[in-house]
Amino acid sequence: MDVAGEIGQFDVARRRMVEEQLRNRGIADERVLRAMSRIPRHEFAPESYRGEAYHDHPLPIGEGQTISQPYIVAIMLQALALSPSDHVLEVGTGSGYVTALLAEITPHVISIERHVALADAARALLARLGYSSVQVIAGDGSLGYAPGAPYNAILVSAAARELPQPLLDQLAEGGRMIIPVGPPDLQQLQLVSIQNGQSQVLSREICRFVPLVSDLAS
Ligand code: SAM
Repeated sequence: MDVAGEIGQFDVARRRMVEEQLRNRGIADERVLRAMSRIPRHEFAPESYRGEAYHDHPLPIGEGQTISQPYIVAIMLQALALSPSDHVLEVGTGSGYVTALLAEITPHVISIERHVALADAARALLARLGYSSVQVIAGDGSLGYAPGAPYNAILVSAAARELPQPLLDQLAEGGRMIIPVGPPDLQQLQLVSIQNGQSQVLSREICRFVPLVSDLAS
């Protein structure tokens, strides 16, 4: 297939993903739907998985890591109820796909990834796609990133055994965090919000993420 044909095929697959996997399953936040309609997920997938980039499942990205299933990504973004003025920290950049989605919604995005090779690749790809305002940092995101704090929203795409205190401390008043919490085989998304200085936790969907590898635990 020629390049134009391939691009057309990806566009059709992306539109179908948004309608069938997201809107039909209750994703209604138009900012999230617009971002997921725009971002070329296939650019973030390894060459050999590009044909599956818009399928209803996670994809391997190297270093034993994955890009999450589109639906779970949409659930997490929608739970955060993001607006363009929000300052956002993402923990677990991976391929940079979710970073790009966040950057479609707000220019104030910092993302941390512990694998230097993944952080470097995501930074380069995001720059090539024009997301110049995003900061990608190599490091341990379970410690948060104090220089950018406080954050209105934190999205963690790796599973913690418990809520990491440094991340709670870096949330602004009114801030929200979505994070998978639980043992390695199965977790539950937790939506944390800070109201009057107190954290409130809402347990949400069951999910399965790669572990948040924390220097705190070692
Ligand atoms: N959202 C990413 C994407 O769109 O490609 C996928 C993230 S993948 C499910 C989880 C990522 O979290 C992995 O790339 C992993 O290396 C990273 N990770 C795990 N523990 C981390 C930590 N303590 N700090 C930063 N990144 C971490």
